[in-house]
Amino acid sequence: MNNNKIKKNLSELRFDLESKDWVMIATGRAKKPQDFKFEKKKNNGKQKKETEQKCPFCSLDIASAPVLIFSQGKKIERFESLPKDWTLIVIPNKFPAVMPGENLRERAEGPYSLIDGIGFHEVVVTRDHLQDMSQFSIAEIKEVLDAYQERYLELMNEKFVNYVSIFHNHGQSAGATISHPHSQIMAIPVIDPDIQKSLIGSRRYWDFHQKCLHCEMLKWDKEAGDRIIFENNDFIALCPFASRMAFHVRIYPKEHLSYFERVNEEQKIALSEVFQVILSQLRKTLGDLAYNFFLRTSPCDGKDYSYYHWHFEILPRTSIQAGFELGAGIEISTIEPEKAALYLRM
Ligand SMILES: [Zn+2]
Ligand SMILES: [Zn+2]
Repeated sequence: MNNNKIKKNLSELRFDLESKDWVMIATGRAKKPQDFKFEKKKNNGKQKKETEQKCPFCSLDIASAPVLIFSQGKKIERFESLPKDWTLIVIPNKFPAVMPGENLRERAEGPYSLIDGIGFHEVVVTRDHLQDMSQFSIAEIKEVLDAYQERYLELMNEKFVNYVSIFHNHGQSAGATISHPHSQIMAIPVIDPDIQKSLIGSRRYWDFHQKCLHCEMLKWDKEAGDRIIFENNDFIALCPFASRMAFHVRIYPKEHLSYFERVNEEQKIALSEVFQVILSQLRKTLGDLAYNFFLRTSPCDGKDYSYYHWHFEILPRTSIQAGFELGAGIEISTIEPEKAALYLRM
């Protein structure tokens, strides 16, 4: 038995011997069986107003310990109190899944191995409680991307940080526990299983063909045309050939780029335009549906990932993961990607 006193709330990363995936045991929030029970929540206008009054992000103050503040796209360099005109703020997550620490404490328990959940968990909050990112202007989206990059560059240099995961959940069924629009940034010591699979696939293709897998797919998809939704000079959005669910959208830099954090101003503006078109088209086509989007980029563990092509994945919650998806690992898309792209172009 390990007698080391574990700091309260500290999570663990456990290694699955069979799948070679890391799982996180984070007990910060739900602890008792009743905490897991699903309660149907009423959703009417009244409820929405109440939520806004009680919203933790609508009543932020300096005590929330912001690490970054923007006002109308401009970074506020020094702040002693919260500026009245803030438009975006980054704060540490009140219920972090990982926490800063001095030691990873890698250890074994019989055949198992685990490490402490050391890292950083931050929340990127935009000001308006009711305005979702699908209703944002290009400038507002650019501000969010600026915040992602700024925090990425800071966190990637922290001790034990090997991957920076950036994601946005919209809607309860996409896992957003607070309805106020926000994204999350998690800087963690391990490469998460999803990105690991993506890296392995790209690496194998690179080793075998001496070409980037994503550039090759992009070349083919551009010629075929039917899965492309929108493009500008630097970025392109499409429904992937093997879409994971209906209306799955992927956004790529057109140039072969491996590291998101190196994106420049011009590219960020172009990416913001593509995001604005895609998110607003999804809203127009599917209504205010729950969705997730997340960044897939090279780890920041100092190794060479020049074979990888960073991108964003947008996954509207058009279906739920049921037994087959979870058990067989085959996800079901209920519409052809070519047709989904057609709807999103309209
Ligand atoms: Zn709010
Ligand atoms: Zn590429």
